[in-house]
Amino acid sequence: MDPQLLPFAERQAPRYTSYPSANHFDASVNAETYGSWLRALSPDTSLSLYLHVPYCRELCWYCGCNTYLTRGGDIGDFVTALMMEVDLVASKLGSHRVGEIHWGGGTPNVLSPEQFSRLVRQIHFWFDVASDVAHAVELDPRYVTRELAEEYVAAGVGRASLGVQDLNPHVQKAIGRVQPIEQVRQAVETLRGAGLTQLSFDLMYGLSGQTADDLARTIRLAADLQPNRIALFGYAHVPWFKRRQRLINAEDLPGASERFDQAELARSMLNDLGYESVGLDHFARPDDPLAISARNATLKRNFQGYVAQESAALIGLGPSAISHLPGGYVQNITTVTAWRHAVEADTLPIARGHAETAEDLRRNAIIQSIMCTHQVDLGPWGGWDMFPDAYADLRALSEAGLVMIENDELRIPDSARQFSRLVAAAFDAYAQPSQPAHSRAI
Ligand code: SF4
Repeated sequence: MDPQLLPFAERQAPRYTSYPSANHFDASVNAETYGSWLRALSPDTSLSLYLHVPYCRELCWYCGCNTYLTRGGDIGDFVTALMMEVDLVASKLGSHRVGEIHWGGGTPNVLSPEQFSRLVRQIHFWFDVASDVAHAVELDPRYVTRELAEEYVAAGVGRASLGVQDLNPHVQKAIGRVQPIEQVRQAVETLRGAGLTQLSFDLMYGLSGQTADDLARTIRLAADLQPNRIALFGYAHVPWFKRRQRLINAEDLPGASERFDQAELARSMLNDLGYESVGLDHFARPDDPLAISARNATLKRNFQGYVAQESAALIGLGPSAISHLPGGYVQNITTVTAWRHAVEADTLPIARGHAETAEDLRRNAIIQSIMCTHQVDLGPWGGWDMFPDAYADLRALSEAGLVMIENDELRIPDSARQFSRLVAAAFDAYAQPSQPAHSRAI
């Protein structure tokens, strides 16, 4: 990495899976607001459903998600409460077409085949699930069984996303996630054997003790298994926010310059292996819908990362899940017990949210364009005169060659794609650069 770029690589910036970022949501948006937004939704509005399963069989040290260890009857109680939340939301919405269903967590495969099937039946009971629904589930490869895989296929799941992270034993040990390649291969064979053939792998760089050679080995081994997509995330070390990350030896974390080089190495290797770059950190086979939407400039970014298609309303279900409706964002209560108590009291389990203003929508469109296509034309948004602060913020990035500005157009060169979050942050009216609320931009 060019040493002159180091100060930029060390800056922090939001991931922009929403605008504003969730740390700017507040309690002024509550269950009553959400109820009015749900009731106001036009019956012909298509929905995306996101179901958050906050349990895992083991807790990995690096994880930044909202997760709990599975214990006794917890899962059964959780499934009952999640079904009640589906009832509660659907009773306010009425029947709508559902175009996308995504199960995240946590580990959705802590649910038994019967529990998963009950929840899917509940969704079909209330909603008009499209015959070509994009139905995806995130899985921990260590707990994929034949019975589960067959249930997913029977329920219409078309894509599974496997958490792979790194395939070197010493790195796996350093991050508290021991998962030999044989387990990943077995999970892939089980899913494909059941007919679930669209597979995504999540990989990570910037992990404790991980070198460029380790990352290259992981990419080679992962590519041998021929997933359709690979997402490559930079590890975010935020121990002030996630206590379990204190178990990770911070002294062995790669620095900003090494992280940059690792991400560039991965991009170049994956491109050479036939995966097209999609957005900031995703890669897909040329025939994959994600690669096609990137080529057609129709790619979208939301809480699941990059998506090829997205409905006008996202309904989040489960603790901490975030919904996005035409009025704005709401986030469910984070702790399982408080979320369940709200649902049992027949109350929408909302903790906070954000009502979008016209200014938010304008800036969100610009930030989406930067994060998805690495360019934006400000002409339709009133040109630079409407964003004088952004112009000033971008001057240093422009002088360093990380962004090209010509008239009302802004473009990020391929070699500077990793800095897209910093470029987007210039248009963020809520950004507070001095607060360590976000991870490093690279
Ligand atoms: S990385 Fe996945 S399996 Fe590990 S604690 Fe986080 S959500 Fe659970």
